[in-house]
Amino acid sequence: MGAVGVGFVDCHCHLSAPDFDSVCKGEARPANVMALVVVAEQSGEFEKIMQLSERYKGFVLPCLGVHPVQGVSPGDQRSVTLKDLDVALPIMENYKDQLLAIGEVGLDFSPRFAGTDEQKEEQRQVLIRQIQFAKRLNLPLNVHSRSAGRPTISLLNEQGADKVLLHAFDGRPSVAMEGVRAGYFFSIPPSIIRSGQKQKLVKQLPLTSICLETDSPALGPEKQVRNEPQNISIAAEYIAQVKGISVEEVIEVTTQNALRLFPKLRHLLQE
Ligand SMILES: [Zn+2]
Repeated sequence: MGAVGVGFVDCHCHLSAPDFDSVCKGEARPANVMALVVVAEQSGEFEKIMQLSERYKGFVLPCLGVHPVQGVSPGDQRSVTLKDLDVALPIMENYKDQLLAIGEVGLDFSPRFAGTDEQKEEQRQVLIRQIQFAKRLNLPLNVHSRSAGRPTISLLNEQGADKVLLHAFDGRPSVAMEGVRAGYFFSIPPSIIRSGQKQKLVKQLPLTSICLETDSPALGPEKQVRNEPQNISIAAEYIAQVKGISVEEVIEVTTQNALRLFPKLRHLLQE
């Protein structure tokens, strides 16, 4: 497998933490983490993510996309609209050659964000347009789904999306298996150690469909404590235990999966 494939790939994390720089810089970089796939939620973050990916070339790999839930502080969070997408798409187009994937996109049918059929429909339209954008550029999708596992997988399937990562999937294992059959990957966060749902999911998923993520600063091993990319090993250790294999094998296979999912990864890592 050559030089590539010896460490972890964090397939989904955020830059919202102000001291994120220390995670990217030389000595403070977590051992064994060879790449961070950084996702956006809204157009206001795009420039910062692109700057970081320039500064930490070959380590911070950028995804741009419009999340189904918009709003910076918890108080003003709301369901996405087509207007949000109209602002974002020209910027995404501008950076298309530098992107590893499109994300974070998806559906969030939590009642507080998508209480009406109109909101759900607008989320679908925003997702469809981003799937089409990704297909045109031949880029994978980094996908969020909350209380919308089956609708998300069905829509991706209908729209002919083929390179797909479902991050922190909260649906039933039987629904996830529909994604596996479509060739989709599922990334598992460190919060698995406190989530019965994720534990059931990992028991069912074949290792060949599993990737690792931290979703930093969310989904850490302890609730309410800021998550860090170095915690990725916690997810790997848990998966190793469930599958009865070594942690090294989990690292090797999940990194190979990430390379299959994100075709530009191999090239970007060598930059
Ligand atoms: Zn996320």
